[in-house]
Amino acid sequence: MNQENVLEEAAEPSPAARQGAALPSGGVTRKHNKVVAFKFGGSSLLGAERMFHAARLVRKAAQVSKVAVVVSAMKGVTDHLLSIEKALAAGKMAQARREAEVVLGMHLEVLENLQLAEEADRRVRYELQLLGRDLLHAVESWEQGATSAEFSDRLASFGERFTTRLFAAALEKLEVASVPVTSSEFVLTCDTFRDAQPHLEQSKRRGRKILLPLLKEGIVPVVTGFIGATPDGRITTLGRNSSDFSGAIVAYVVDADELVIWTDVDGIYTANPQEAAEAQLLHELSYDEAHALAASGAKVLHPKVLPLAAESEMVVWVRNTFNPQARGTRIGPPGEFSGALPPGGVA
Ligand code: ADP
Ligand code: ASP
Ligand code: MG
Repeated sequence: MNQENVLEEAAEPSPAARQGAALPSGGVTRKHNKVVAFKFGGSSLLGAERMFHAARLVRKAAQVSKVAVVVSAMKGVTDHLLSIEKALAAGKMAQARREAEVVLGMHLEVLENLQLAEEADRRVRYELQLLGRDLLHAVESWEQGATSAEFSDRLASFGERFTTRLFAAALEKLEVASVPVTSSEFVLTCDTFRDAQPHLEQSKRRGRKILLPLLKEGIVPVVTGFIGATPDGRITTLGRNSSDFSGAIVAYVVDADELVIWTDVDGIYTANPQEAAEAQLLHELSYDEAHALAASGAKVLHPKVLPLAAESEMVVWVRNTFNPQARGTRIGPPGEFSGALPPGGVA
């Protein structure tokens, strides 16, 4: 069977979907042995409608696998947070405070649009407001000359912390049991702020204690990408655009069979498809081939994903959240061209 045929067959809705079968609430994945990690980028999470769309992809996968989710900040939020530091450095404390309020407001607006039931809305609003208060507190604690890399990691970490709360709430509304998890609880790093290196084995030991019991219960953990912490508890980030790497770390921690990087293009192309009309979609890549593309600046995939994926022989997919009918790019062990389908098939 050629690849087109495989894709056509898989594009058929499943019998359960055809009958519009409702999902049981919570605990849906308990009986599944396969584990997949889904990482959603910032454009896939920009606003309530996109969050629900992404959450439906998770719900579908959770029917056949255990699923761990890793989220970025909403598109633009990390830049916004880092601009607060610039305002502070320019001595504009009032503007910095206002910007912090704006960031909180953006997330409260998404919460509004999620239209949660009263009790869930109250709970999540409270969580967002606590984060907003911590953000404001961080801003107000800024001191001229304080080590700025450490401060900017602390500021930047809020974006992902906001999205985990909202995305977990979106999943709950779709009757998928889920909890937000802050990765600084288990991703242990060195203290090179803005580019911290994770201690993988220690992170794995700590992460398993948090994530495996959730997966076992059929609960989807929604984990912050991008952030970790030093052994003495100071928040670090793994570098700009590193939530893909966090996706690979979480996949490694839970021994996922596959990692899906959900983004805003159909997969990895020979060149940036937003810029080069002649760019060709690549269907299958080895870890080395994908690493070469990522290391040469293809923003679609963080280069640190590949060595870790290769070491653990984890299959990585790069797929389009907005076009789940497309199979995406599959990255796997060399010489293993499979024409395989991504976890859960294509929509
Ligand atoms: P996300 O927020 O999902 O992490 P990114 O913006 O980091 O998304 O990465 C996706 C973007 O990467 C695409 O929108 C595309 O413009 C860009 N890109 C650059 N090079 C490539 C490439 N070779 N193949 C696909 N996309 C690429
Ligand atoms: N939010 C972070 C950034 O903007 C990490 C990521 O999106 O991958 O760099
Ligand atoms: Mg990215």
